[in-house]
Amino acid sequence: MEDVFNWQINRNMKYPYPAAKPEKQFAAVFDINKCIGCQTCSITCKTTWTAGRGQEYMFWNNVESKPYGGYPLYWDSKLLEKLGGGKWANKTYEGKTIFEKAAEENLSVKGFLPALEDWSYPNMGEDEIYGGQVTQGMHIESLPHPIWFFYLPRICNHCSYPACVAACPRQSVYKRPEDGIVLIDQSRCQGYRQCVSGCPYKKPMYNATTNRSEKCVACYPKTEAGLHTQCMEHCIGKIRVQGWINPPDKADPTNPIDYLVHVRKIALPLYPQFGTQPNVYYIPPTHVPPPYLTQMFGTGVEAAIKAYKDAPSDTTLKGLLVLFGSCAELMTKFEVKNDIAIGYNSKGDIVAQTPIVEPNVIREHYDKKLDVYRLDVT
Ligand code: SF4
Ligand code: SF4
Repeated sequence: MEDVFNWQINRNMKYPYPAAKPEKQFAAVFDINKCIGCQTCSITCKTTWTAGRGQEYMFWNNVESKPYGGYPLYWDSKLLEKLGGGKWANKTYEGKTIFEKAAEENLSVKGFLPALEDWSYPNMGEDEIYGGQVTQGMHIESLPHPIWFFYLPRICNHCSYPACVAACPRQSVYKRPEDGIVLIDQSRCQGYRQCVSGCPYKKPMYNATTNRSEKCVACYPKTEAGLHTQCMEHCIGKIRVQGWINPPDKADPTNPIDYLVHVRKIALPLYPQFGTQPNVYYIPPTHVPPPYLTQMFGTGVEAAIKAYKDAPSDTTLKGLLVLFGSCAELMTKFEVKNDIAIGYNSKGDIVAQTPIVEPNVIREHYDKKLDVYRLDVT
């Protein structure tokens, strides 16, 4: 066991391997406030990667709704129970991570193997509301809402301390040194499913036809070419941005991911208490009560929601938020100049340009040329 620093729980922890320090680390930010649950991301991933035999119930990208949805069923609540709860003291997690809990039981990772049927209902519990029923004519003005649910899109987090890597007895799972993407070597895998048990996010999936485990590959052929993955590019709600994340002490404020995660701290990791230091970050939904969100995203929730709500009067943050989903190429730098948000690729070329103030043109009510009155004048 190595002693490694996990900045998301603000302390050192035990991990079965020395910390891997890739040259750069794949990362993404998802703005949950904008997800409409259309499942376009799930479908674009499925048609690209998991349309073969044995992959019928495999969704490397899935979208569930919280608090009741889950794919596979109860993936998170079961593990939270096994960890026995855990307290945060300010920004430091004082409970046990999955690696620390496992060490008590002489295991490498604390996890569980879902039953096969748990994967068969990817939309079970979806759209179920917490806190009561929506009645006809109901109008909710207060924040957070007394009754609520939200969509949670999920892919593999390409974690910095991956539990799938730690759990595999054949070293079939590896983290690429060039970009931190986590892959399963199909020629080494023997289908033991230890990665499925070990991953707290349940993102490796077993293919009974090939007797191999498979997982999200971060669309590495696209990522290597400087492009967004399929799920990021095709997101209808434009909730996603992909890039590279630096450690907090090397944060670059012109890097979109660093700015959202480290500088403004409005994007938070999913279940940081699991201890894998996941690299997909979420802007939490403003309408959901903070205690629930704190269990899911850690202690930064209220500050993140405040910063997000203040974004309309914060030119730089607003500019970056309007650049989400605006280009196929990876945007490694951004700036806001004269109310225009501009995104650049790694060569310094402009790949996105968006005004942050929406033009508002008011037309004459009566059009003399056509001799008609207009119902809509904006
Ligand atoms: S999310 Fe799971 S499968 Fe993906 S890198 Fe982390 S531990 Fe491995
Ligand atoms: S495509 Fe985008 S908006 Fe639609 S479900 Fe996926 S993440 Fe949400």
